[in-house]
Amino acid sequence: MNDVVIRLKDITKIYNVGGEKVVALDRVNLEIKRGEICCLLGASGSGKSTLLNVMAGIEKLTSGEVIMNEKKVSKFTENQLAIFRQKYLGFVFQSYNLINSLTALENVEMPLIFKRISAKNRRQIASVMLDKVGLTSRVKHRPTQMSGGQQQRVGIARAFVTKPEIVFADEPTGNLDSKTANEIIKLIKQMARENNQTLVIVTHDAGVATFADKIIHIHDGSITKVEEMEEQNEN
Ligand code: ADP
Ligand code: MG
Repeated sequence: MNDVVIRLKDITKIYNVGGEKVVALDRVNLEIKRGEICCLLGASGSGKSTLLNVMAGIEKLTSGEVIMNEKKVSKFTENQLAIFRQKYLGFVFQSYNLINSLTALENVEMPLIFKRISAKNRRQIASVMLDKVGLTSRVKHRPTQMSGGQQQRVGIARAFVTKPEIVFADEPTGNLDSKTANEIIKLIKQMARENNQTLVIVTHDAGVATFADKIIHIHDGSITKVEEMEEQNEN
């Protein structure tokens, strides 16, 4: 079995803004292996979010190819993409993107509804996930009744609840203080390691990147350096 899970071939993304061309990604080539914890590191405007969105099939390419799990995702129709995302991908967002009218437990249950799992089983699975992220005592809280760090824990539980092969996180610690950020990154990493899931984290924070197996440096839409990190102590 091939253990490259994401392969990008000559990815270019050009935005047209009022007749002007903005080259957001310029011939990007990249391979990410199964179970790797990768960090896309670069300054604001360097193209990190565009690259992540291209990988996840959210953003259309100008040219090039995205291959995930041996499938040419960049050739998929919207419908095929939606199914693929539900089946294989999880997402963690900078501003958590929780539904404010739902409790923590109900937020985590959401992705399971699309999987046609019975209500009883959904509640059971979601509550195990909330235990794992340390929110056993917050299952009935709504997002506005939780701190940023707690909301992001709910976001992480929701991203992992379907056991996706790949989890994408765009600036997951961008709205958090540095101590909480550290805890959140450790938690995402621990969750991914548990089932050998692949994790792609976007950040402008070099401190966050120290947790990665692989740091992909981006500058002006190009990958300038890929650093493979030494095996490190998981604690
Ligand atoms: P980062 O996430 O590293 O801050 P982005 O990927 O958001 O950077 O943006 C990369 C470049 O592409 C920037 O110059 C940005 O202005 C431009 N860009 C991003 N999204 C759009 C868009 N929807 N339309 C036009 N230009 C965009
Ligand atoms: Mg961004």
